[in-house]
Amino acid sequence: LKENNARQLWHPMGAPADIRANAPTIITSAEGVKITDIDGHSVVDAVGGLWCVNLGYSNNVVKDAIAKQLYDLPYYSAFAGSTNPPAIEAAYAVQEMFAEDGVERVFFTSGGSDSVETTLRLARQYHRLRGEPTRTKFLSLKKGYHGTHFGGASVNGNARFRTAYEPLLAGCFHLPSPYTYRNPYNETDPAKLAQNIAAAMEDEIAFQDPKTIAAFIMEPIQGAGGVIVPDASFMKLMRDICDRHGILLISDEVITGFGRTGDWSGARHWGVKPDMMSMAKGITSGYFPVGAALISGKVAEVFEGAGSEGGIYHGYTYSAHPVGAAAVTATISETLRLDTKTNAAARGKQLHEGILKLAEKHDIIGDVRGGHGLMHGIEIVSDKAAKTPMDAASMKRIHTAAYQAGAMVRLGMHNILMSPPLTITEAEVQVILDALDAGFSAV
Ligand code: PMP
Repeated sequence: LKENNARQLWHPMGAPADIRANAPTIITSAEGVKITDIDGHSVVDAVGGLWCVNLGYSNNVVKDAIAKQLYDLPYYSAFAGSTNPPAIEAAYAVQEMFAEDGVERVFFTSGGSDSVETTLRLARQYHRLRGEPTRTKFLSLKKGYHGTHFGGASVNGNARFRTAYEPLLAGCFHLPSPYTYRNPYNETDPAKLAQNIAAAMEDEIAFQDPKTIAAFIMEPIQGAGGVIVPDASFMKLMRDICDRHGILLISDEVITGFGRTGDWSGARHWGVKPDMMSMAKGITSGYFPVGAALISGKVAEVFEGAGSEGGIYHGYTYSAHPVGAAAVTATISETLRLDTKTNAAARGKQLHEGILKLAEKHDIIGDVRGGHGLMHGIEIVSDKAAKTPMDAASMKRIHTAAYQAGAMVRLGMHNILMSPPLTITEAEVQVILDALDAGFSAV
């Protein structure tokens, strides 16, 4: 395995030559919140796989449900003419969990990018069904990440994920991110920055003509962009603007859904009801690739009221895959039984406060972002006063030293990103903090 590492296998998100030169870590097993590599080194997984392993690696209820379903019915298509019992049960469980967010219908997909694609398509079709076919454009935020399909990449707010694949979808416009550390207004006050972005959004909508805009998509807390936590007023401001102009609000909850922010959805955390939500990751805690587009009553009634005109000619072979659906229902029942959102809030607070203490000791910490559940970003700089981004080689040294000291963290561009399993204990959070301390001491 070591000899052929990255020889035949191309890895997502990186240059094959760089990846080959840096021989990716081979993870061979996992238990609880710990992962073990091919050399037998075990660490706390502070990334939760890829923001997804919310229940940890040893949940036997989910594993047993998957195993049983594999024997009962491993696959059958859930297209228009047929379905399967786990799909009906999973849709019930998901709708019930997000009823408070206004969710009434569930459309299953194979992952996060699919779910975003589905919400964008449904948004255009919604307006068409209502007699407003000119509403085709999308608004989103810089630094947002919405997956790799052409639709999601078009609303992505990071050039790296866009430029090599252009031309993307026409009619997508990106507003500033609620990122207080750096922004075009030099505004460090989060509430004032939220007002600035709201004004920029009104301006863009007026410029484009509101009657041409289908939807605005945002993450309640931007994840891959660096864990950017907006002011508590931000999402409500966006909701109000969307309402004023007949624009749908899509909340991309692929990371924030299922308890990560300390509530079941990120939108609920900010007191907002979206028109649609995209989900994945925590929906099965990484045990099976599943995603879902969640649809509010407002959107559902337009499709359902349109008779045959409301046909959704869009779907995936693995939409409502019975094994995936069984994983969804078991994951939700375990998520509720363990009340993971409450632990996420408590352990997130512990981790955030610990990182703030480390920032007093290490001058390379430029910005600490988190404080809402288990989503953390630490921006690393080589000069604190000038906010100079840390070079890639030093970032790699931090990562390696932290790994040797007991925690796998994720390297963003100049950020350390973390989203550990929501089942993590107080002692395991302390292991992450000690490993970060060792990592920062290495540069
Ligand atoms: N949206 C968000 C907010 C995400 O974080 C991600 C994945 N990190 C996606 C969409 C895409 O999900 P997937 O990788 O499952 O396609």
